[in-house]
Amino acid sequence: MTAPRTECQKRMAGLIEELWRLERDLVSDGFDQALARVARELPMRVHQAASGAEAWTWLVPPKWSCQEAYVERMNGERILDRRQHPLHCASYGAPFEGIVSRDVLKAHLTTSKLQPEAIPYAWKHYRDDWGLSCTRSFFDSLTDDAYRVVIRTRHEPGFLKVGEAVVPGSGEEEFVLCAHLDHPAMVNDDLSGVVVGLEVMRSLLKRPRGRFTYRLLLTPETIGSVVWLSQNESLIPRIRGGLFLEMLGTDCPHSLAKSFQGQTRADQCLLAVLQERDPQAWVGPFRKVICNDERQFNAPGVRVPMLSLSRVFHPDTGKWPYPEYHSSLDTPDIISWEKLEESVEMVLAMIDRLERDRYPVNLFKGEVFCTRYNLFVDFYEDPEAHRALFDTLFRIDGSSSIQEIAQACGLPFKQVARILDKLEEKGLVRFSDTPVSPPTGISENEIALKRG
Ligand SMILES: [Zn+2]
Repeated sequence: MTAPRTECQKRMAGLIEELWRLERDLVSDGFDQALARVARELPMRVHQAASGAEAWTWLVPPKWSCQEAYVERMNGERILDRRQHPLHCASYGAPFEGIVSRDVLKAHLTTSKLQPEAIPYAWKHYRDDWGLSCTRSFFDSLTDDAYRVVIRTRHEPGFLKVGEAVVPGSGEEEFVLCAHLDHPAMVNDDLSGVVVGLEVMRSLLKRPRGRFTYRLLLTPETIGSVVWLSQNESLIPRIRGGLFLEMLGTDCPHSLAKSFQGQTRADQCLLAVLQERDPQAWVGPFRKVICNDERQFNAPGVRVPMLSLSRVFHPDTGKWPYPEYHSSLDTPDIISWEKLEESVEMVLAMIDRLERDRYPVNLFKGEVFCTRYNLFVDFYEDPEAHRALFDTLFRIDGSSSIQEIAQACGLPFKQVARILDKLEEKGLVRFSDTPVSPPTGISENEIALKRG
């Protein structure tokens, strides 16, 4: 891949270089180090939960560490050693020491069918079992009858941590960005999402205050989101939507997984921007693209419409999610810094759309006499603009947002927004952050107010 060029790309590449080799298991010193480093990028609050604590139906796992792990022939020759690569020992694997038959050893080894020469990422979360990972050629080279295995790992009480950066908004509504910071010695899954999220927040911090409050959560995947949600239940009703960011460093077009509900305002706005900016993008329903913490946000009892943005579908090869996935080949070498920056811009454009998308409410009854307000467009002079004006006009009743009107009329968002801004200037429309019910828009009070 090419070298990072812009300031944004250089910042992302520099941070990934500092973080990626850390042994970022769910609850681990490596995760804590990564979070402490990331917290130097933006003001960040750290939430924590002790090992064994309940978070809804989940239990916070212990802290895990591996002191050493190796395999020796009976003559003492060491043939596999975790010092060569942290992925050689399964994350959260149990300690073990003993002489085992070839078959027993092989039953505890993980190899990758997709990438036979890579060391795959294996884990034993919530299981009492030991495991090692190796290349296929190593696996095939095992011909001795017995081997000596030494795995020294520790499960001990610790604290699960979730980092949270906040950009406050002027209203009550919130939007959550989320990425996971765990996964030892891997980059695209999901440091790519972490650095994109940080860059988006950095940009938002420089802007004038928007309507929404934005939160970026950096979690140990799944359990981190459950912990944060269970500790912040009072915020849930305010969260209008969210976006999980992951696997954004490949050369593929974007992929977007919709929320569980699939038709929320967040879905509509994000999808529209995606299709405008990346026409090759792949869109799929909830849980059918790539699954991660958005599951927890969309789950029963929570139902925050969190979508997921990634680049996991290669249109030419049809390969999914990407060849180096969950392996020792997921290194900075496979990352396109340009694509990462494009994803930062994509997320910012999605946020712009959310900020701009409001509900126009009619302060008029009947069809507006456009000529009187200097709004009329002659059909014979400009049939398209005429259609746009009247198609828009007839949908203004407080029940449809700008995005919904644009979609229903097959018009660009910008064009509809411009028409509505003009109507607002003329005192014919006001904007509401929420739908107005009943969908007639205008109330007698408002007419009275308008007449002064
Ligand atoms: Zn993963």
